[in-house]
Amino acid sequence: MESRTSFTIAIEEHYNDPDLVAHFTGLDRTRPPHIEKKLLDLGELRLREMDEGAVDIQVLSHAGPTTQKLEPETAVRMAKATNDRLAQSVARAPDRFAGFAVLPTPAPEAAADELERCVTELGFKGAVVNGLTNGKFLDERQFWPIFARAETLGVPIYLHPALPSPAVDKVYYDSLSATFPELRGPVWGFTAETATQAIRMILSGALSEYPKLQLILGHLGEALPFMLWRIDDLLARPVSDGMTFSDVFRRNFHLTTSGNFSDTALACSIAEMGVDRILFAVDWPFASNKAGTDWLMQTTLSDGDKAKILGGNAKRLLKM
Ligand code: MN
Repeated sequence: MESRTSFTIAIEEHYNDPDLVAHFTGLDRTRPPHIEKKLLDLGELRLREMDEGAVDIQVLSHAGPTTQKLEPETAVRMAKATNDRLAQSVARAPDRFAGFAVLPTPAPEAAADELERCVTELGFKGAVVNGLTNGKFLDERQFWPIFARAETLGVPIYLHPALPSPAVDKVYYDSLSATFPELRGPVWGFTAETATQAIRMILSGALSEYPKLQLILGHLGEALPFMLWRIDDLLARPVSDGMTFSDVFRRNFHLTTSGNFSDTALACSIAEMGVDRILFAVDWPFASNKAGTDWLMQTTLSDGDKAKILGGNAKRLLKM
């Protein structure tokens, strides 16, 4: 293993807030006990695994489900309390942790206000949205106040997956869920829904309205880099102010390596997006810090490009 001096910021790293999680006890979302334990740890256990993987800073975000799935009033109240507690956790180790907000998207204007509060008062770096908001994709106009505020504040919104909506789940995944329960989740369901979310953000015109807004996709772009040529070819027309689909994708999206430590997927992502739009993430505790950093270091990228992906690009995008 070659020595590594790059500063490493991992930006899709999860935790659980017990008070928020208590709202979802009825959902079928059991995780292995060792994962639950790691999600609840914001101290010794987490820091030890960060040290083992040479991760200097985790930008923390709540694991799904979060406030996307609550009624508006509850979502607003729980988002504020959850974000306040995250700020306290970050303050205990400010050289190791930073924060992404949870947003009460069921109440879009309040979500925009909460984003501003989190950025200006709590020092958060942006927000993570977990999947659909009570069955609705984010490109609906009711959610655009959130994008307006993020653009004004200059902070990104991370489009994180969640379990697919029930109607999709039933048709696409139910009959294989007993033998392959991962299919509806990280194996395919997360990717299909999150890529759809990203495509809809472009085709709805939301990114024409907010051309400076930056969105982040994990898992090396939820398969979209591989599909850009075909999407452009078959749309066969500009989608926004004379720009093609891939033009807008390259202007408004950054991608992270979370849970997708593939040389070929990374090569495709860099070829389509440019190295400046690729950021390091692990997806801890669902993937290992050491596996992530060891993988990035064994790629054939130059030291300069490795340094950009490991931390330089995050410093710029998140103003750290
Ligand atoms: Mn994740």
